[in-house]
Amino acid sequence: MKKFYITTPIYYVNARPHIGHAYTTIACDTIARRQRMLGVDTYFLTGTDEHGQKIERAAQAAGKSPQQLTDEVSAQFRALWDRMGLTYDDYIRTTEERHKKSVQQLFRTIRDNGFIYKGTYTGQYCVYDELYVDATEPGAPCPECGRPTETVHEENYFFKLSAFQDKLLRLYNEQPDFIRPETRRNEVMSFVRSGLRDLSISRSTFSWGIPVPDDPKHVIYVWLDALANYITALGYGTADDKLFRKYWPADVQMIGKEIVRFHCVYWPAFLMAAGIPLPKGIVAHGWLLFEENKMSKSRGNIVRAETILDVLGNDALRYFLLREIVFGQDGSFSFDALVQRYNSDLANGLGNLASRTLTMIARYRGGEVPKPAQVEDSIADAARKVIAEYGAAFDQFQFSRALEGAWGLVAAVDKYIVENAPWALDEKKDETSRAHLGTVLYTSAEALRIVTALAHPVIPEATAKIWAQLGLGDIKKLSLAGLQWGELQPGTRLGKIEPVFPRADKSAIERMQTMEEQGRTAAGAPEPKPVEVPKVTAAPVTPDGKITIDDFAKVELRVGQVKVAERVPKADKLLRLEVDLGTEVRQVVAGIAESYAPETLIGRKVVIVANLAPRKLRGLESNGMIVAASPEGGKAILAGFWEDVPVGTRLK
Ligand SMILES: [Zn+2]
Repeated sequence: MKKFYITTPIYYVNARPHIGHAYTTIACDTIARRQRMLGVDTYFLTGTDEHGQKIERAAQAAGKSPQQLTDEVSAQFRALWDRMGLTYDDYIRTTEERHKKSVQQLFRTIRDNGFIYKGTYTGQYCVYDELYVDATEPGAPCPECGRPTETVHEENYFFKLSAFQDKLLRLYNEQPDFIRPETRRNEVMSFVRSGLRDLSISRSTFSWGIPVPDDPKHVIYVWLDALANYITALGYGTADDKLFRKYWPADVQMIGKEIVRFHCVYWPAFLMAAGIPLPKGIVAHGWLLFEENKMSKSRGNIVRAETILDVLGNDALRYFLLREIVFGQDGSFSFDALVQRYNSDLANGLGNLASRTLTMIARYRGGEVPKPAQVEDSIADAARKVIAEYGAAFDQFQFSRALEGAWGLVAAVDKYIVENAPWALDEKKDETSRAHLGTVLYTSAEALRIVTALAHPVIPEATAKIWAQLGLGDIKKLSLAGLQWGELQPGTRLGKIEPVFPRADKSAIERMQTMEEQGRTAAGAPEPKPVEVPKVTAAPVTPDGKITIDDFAKVELRVGQVKVAERVPKADKLLRLEVDLGTEVRQVVAGIAESYAPETLIGRKVVIVANLAPRKLRGLESNGMIVAASPEGGKAILAGFWEDVPVGTRLK
C-alpha cells in the first residue's frame, strides 16, 4: 500500500493561535484528507515547539513556570485544531519525554559521526528569533526583525554545517522539487552558494531546553530540537520505531516562507550528518497579510479563527483560504472578501445548486433520482475534465486553481438548468418532455455529486451533508480513486433536504469585526504577556484600546523634503529616499514604489516619523518612516500640506 507522510511546522507557543497558523494546518489537513480518500495510507503530524529563551522569559514575565505556560498555550492550539475538525494523527510537543530522548539520540549520532565539535562563540544573538546574527557591533539590529541583538560569549557545541555546502547544492540540483516554489529554491541556493559557516547548536546561558547528552550544562539549540520533531514523533532512535520505518521520509513538509532557511538548509544537513534519508519535499507557502502586513502577534494585527468559525463556520474559513490565496504567494485577508467569497461561491454557488437540484427531484420525481434518457455530453465531458484537472492541480498545491475548475462545473450546470427550464418541462405532460426532464434532473444531480466528492477534503462538513441529502450515505466511505461520470444510480432515494450555506448579510462583517476588537482586549483572555525584549514599536494602551496624549507625544512627526529618490534593486515596492529634516538628512526606505515614480518625489514635502528606531529593509537602513494613507486594496498616497510649511516643522 502506498504511504504518505505530511507535516505542519510545529507552532511556537509564545503566541495564541491565529488564522496564519490555521492556514498552514488547514492546507495540510486538506491534502491528508484527499490522500486518504485516494486510498493512501496517510500520516499527518502537527504539534507545538516549546523550548528556548523566549519562552523562558515570557513565562517569567507572566509569573509562571515555562512548563505551565507551554501547557496552557499548547492546549489552546490543540483545542482549536479539534474544534476545526483537523484530522491530525499525532500531536507532538517538544517538552514530551519521547521527544527529548529521541533528540538526544539524534545529537549523539551526529556527534559520533564527527559533525559536532566544541568551540567558543562570541557574537550577536537575537532572542526574539532564536537566531545567531552575522554582525559584530553590540546591539546591532537583527536582520529578521529589527530588534537589537544581545552579545553572547559562550563555549558551545558547533555543527559542521560548512561540510555540507556542496552536498546541499547537489541536492537542490538533482532534486528540483526538494524546495517549492521555485522562488524559495532560488533564494536558498543563493544563500548556500554564498558560503555556509558552522552553526552553534548549544546554549549554556539558560536552561529551558533539552540537555546535551553527557554535558547537561548545555541545552540543545532550539532549532535542532524543533526540527527533529518530524522524526521523533515517529519514534526515531527509540526501541519502538515502527512508525519511523514505515512513514519516513516525509512526502510533504509544509512551512511558511519565513522558516525556509531552517528547513531547507539546516534540516537536510542535520539529517545527512546523522545518515537519515531526506524528506521528499519542503513546500513553503506565503504570508497571510492583514492590513498589508504579515499577521503576527508583535504587529497586533491578528485575526482569530474562532471569530470566523462562530459566524460563518469551519468550511467558510477553509474554502476562503484555499480558494482566495494563490498557494505559495502572499495573500490578503479581510472580512469583506471572506463574506463576499462565501456568498458568491458557497451560498449562491454550491449551496444553491444543491438546494435547487434536490428540491426539483423531490417535487417532480417524489425524491427519487430519475433515469436519464441520454447522456448530456456537454456536462459529462466538462465533469471528466474537472476530475482530471482537479487532481493534477491539487498535486501541485494549486488549490485555488483546482477549486476554480470545480466551481466552473457548478456554473455550467446552473446555466444548463436555466436553459432547459425543468419547471416548464414539468408542466408539459408529454412523454418527450417527461424523458427530457429526467435527463436534466439526473445530469444536475450527477454533476452535484462529482463537485461534492472533489470538494470534500476542502469543505468536509457541508459536503458530508450534501452527500447524505443525495441519498449516498456516509461520505467517509467514498473512494476518490475511481470517481467518474455516471455512477449515480437512478432510483437512489434522497435524504432530508436542508440548506447547507445560509446567505451571510452585511451584519456578518460587523459581528466579526466587533468580536475581534473584543477578543483583543478582553480581560481574562489567557494570552501570555509579551516577551520582555525591546520592540520596534510598543505604545502602551489604556484598557479601552485608546492611547493617551502623552503616548501620542512620543511620536515625533516632522515635515521633511525629499532630496534623493531611487528604486531599491529587486524590491518592487521600495524606494530609497534621502529626506531633509532641517537639522539633518535622513535615509528612509519606503514602500511607495508602486504609487510614485522616484523622479516625481524630488523636492516634495512629506511627513516623517522622525524618532522611529532604525530598521533594515533589504539591507538598507531606514531611519524613520514616511506617512501615507493606505487605502484597502489601493496604492499608498503620501500625506502632505496645502500651505507651504518650513522643513523640520513638528506636527502635533
Ligand atoms: Zn530578530
